[in-house]
Amino acid sequence: MAGSFAQLAKKAEQTKASISVSKEPDQSPPLEIYKLGDEVLRNQAGRISKVDVSIRDLAKDMLTSMYSAKGIGLAAPQVGIQKRILVIDLDIENPTTPPYVFINPEIISSSASIDTYEEGCLSIPAVYLDVIRPASIKLSYRDEMGRPKKMNADGLMARCIQHEIDHLNGVLFVDRVSDKDKLKNELNEQGFHDKDVKSI
Ligand SMILES: [Zn+2]
Repeated sequence: MAGSFAQLAKKAEQTKASISVSKEPDQSPPLEIYKLGDEVLRNQAGRISKVDVSIRDLAKDMLTSMYSAKGIGLAAPQVGIQKRILVIDLDIENPTTPPYVFINPEIISSSASIDTYEEGCLSIPAVYLDVIRPASIKLSYRDEMGRPKKMNADGLMARCIQHEIDHLNGVLFVDRVSDKDKLKNELNEQGFHDKDVKSI
């Protein structure tokens, strides 16, 4: 009886287990974030066939690196890992809000209505430029426990998910900026090169 209760309790613990990571900056974050010009950012990431502890460990390391860089989203290709996983936390100042982990995310549908929003990227620090995207999306994905999920997202969440999914396909937000003169100026000012922007 005690044994089976312990097993049940363990099972309950496993079911609710998720990702718990300190949001405090880490002086030596576990993963290096690659920058515009690194070809690794241009690769297509592969689907994750099994969500296991190694994937949860990767998500934790990605979150620690993201929090340390004061970002709200990070995709695995940004840390040189070609897997379809991204992490998002729109409430990084609040230590109790859990982050999102999206595994094999797919946009099922996008709204016809569009938004213009100034985006930034941990792979292109200090560059902020307007990008036009659908205002809301419907998404399917697996969470950090491998459970299939669906989400309707709008506002900053929709924006962030679309930006991060682009990373999984080797696309960077600067590729989508329509004001090319401003893009070139901003990139040059921050020590980047507009030749590293790809037309899509
Ligand atoms: Zn980015």
